[in-house]
Amino acid sequence: MNHNLFATFDAKMRARGGSNFITTPDGKTYSYAEALATSERIAGALKALGVEPGDRVAVQVDKSPEVILLYLACLRVGGVYLPLNTGYTAEEVGYFLGDAEPALFVCRPEALADAQAIADKTGCPCVKTLGTDADGSLMEEVARAEPYSGIEPRGEDDLAAILYTSGTTGRSKGAMLTHRNLGSNCESLAEAWRFTDADRLIHALPIFHTHGLFVACNVILISGGRLYFMPKFDIDQIIEAMPDGTALMGVPTFYTRLLQDDRLTPELTRNMRLFTSGSAPLTAETHQKFQQRTGHAILERYGMTETNMNTSNPYDGPRIAGTVGMPLPGVRIRITDPESGTHEPLPQGEIGMLEVSGPNVFKGYWRMPEKTRAELLDDGYFVTGDLALIDDRGYVQIVGRDKDLVISGGFNVYPKEVEQVIDEMDGVVESAVIGVPHPDFGEGVTAVVVLEPNASVSEADVIRNLSGHLAKYKLPKLVFFVDALPRNTMGKVQKKQLRDEYKDIYT
Ligand code: ATP
Ligand code: MG
Repeated sequence: MNHNLFATFDAKMRARGGSNFITTPDGKTYSYAEALATSERIAGALKALGVEPGDRVAVQVDKSPEVILLYLACLRVGGVYLPLNTGYTAEEVGYFLGDAEPALFVCRPEALADAQAIADKTGCPCVKTLGTDADGSLMEEVARAEPYSGIEPRGEDDLAAILYTSGTTGRSKGAMLTHRNLGSNCESLAEAWRFTDADRLIHALPIFHTHGLFVACNVILISGGRLYFMPKFDIDQIIEAMPDGTALMGVPTFYTRLLQDDRLTPELTRNMRLFTSGSAPLTAETHQKFQQRTGHAILERYGMTETNMNTSNPYDGPRIAGTVGMPLPGVRIRITDPESGTHEPLPQGEIGMLEVSGPNVFKGYWRMPEKTRAELLDDGYFVTGDLALIDDRGYVQIVGRDKDLVISGGFNVYPKEVEQVIDEMDGVVESAVIGVPHPDFGEGVTAVVVLEPNASVSEADVIRNLSGHLAKYKLPKLVFFVDALPRNTMGKVQKKQLRDEYKDIYT
């Protein structure tokens, strides 16, 4: 049996024939049949350019439907798809190409000179370009190529993709994802979230990240639905598409921005059946406000580059704000004591390291055998680096990242606990609590707060308010007010950047 994930997609896509697969706001469309035909030609071009099964194909281009067809073509020829964040500089791309040694690098047309220089330096044999108007030298190659309609045989543990992690806690790592990892997860998600060929998914996420590429596109490919494919998050485009959409997959900032718009009403979301959130924590406040405004309870789920999706709030049944729901079918989760080194589960309800196993869990970090050995245990569990608890209803609550835990005077301070109290204060939009080197305490609890326009909240107000709720050792020693928290494109707060910025304040 061929375990190539594309074989599954191919059968679904054929069955959907002339029905619409992708539409863009500027009116470009591909039916399933057209998408298959074009991706066969792209596959022919990849073959002609020398891409062999197992070869990496690195891609750093702006979002367009052709990128998805390139991803499908890459699977078809047995290649390993390797998308790169469009924000990476030439220097950063140099690191990734040196690390991944792709057989082909597809870049934006305007980046060709830089890309060629990097390719020459890192020994990448071939560079092609792909623009957002289906232009570029790759598409010229495609126009000349013989279509390739075969599907290279792949085993379930062969690599389908390498995705670099977001680099929130340090240098990005290449997660090796197999055909089984991706296939099992999109099947679980499509079923858990009831996707069918009648769905029309509003897609405004980047496609170099697991959320926009695998969660969103694979779920649609396997269910035969339709993508409203937007170049980026644009509130007008989203609002325009909503009456005709059935689902939106977003990061929390999508929802906070939608809530700031008066056009968000029950009427606008009348035909929508599902709003999901992930990649960063959704506050209970945003969840509640969205439900009050639209009648829809956002479904929060939790995953990561290395594992695809692990948990989800239920489609039927309570979607509990501030939780990420329960393990998906086939996924096992345990909470262990990070200090003991035994990986034994802690008593129910205690906070500890979240470890996960299942068919979704990756094969290891690309060319990092030691890191892989340290984090992917012999019994198949992956040590996620996220601290969490499982409540008495069986719902998982993410408390924060292990690396963001503040240890002040020997006591553990979970930033989220402090942030939640600050965020509830009148006049506060949001906050980030970090640990910063402190001569007496090891780390000093430090709060960085964003206020509403014209709000007058002082450092003393914040500390006074907190002291009514939390033990003294959890109180910030200093509070800073800023216009906005630093976030990446997935809406993740960059605490590493904040720690760097404030590193000298107590010394
Ligand atoms: P790096 O591993 O390079 O430091 P990263 O962990 O941010 O970066 P990703 O794989 O993109 O890279 O993100 C996965 C992480 O995102 C999870 O480990 C978790 O910390 C966070 N996350 C994802 N979904 C949620 C959620 N619903 N609630 C809270 N955190 C979430
Ligand atoms: Mg990570």
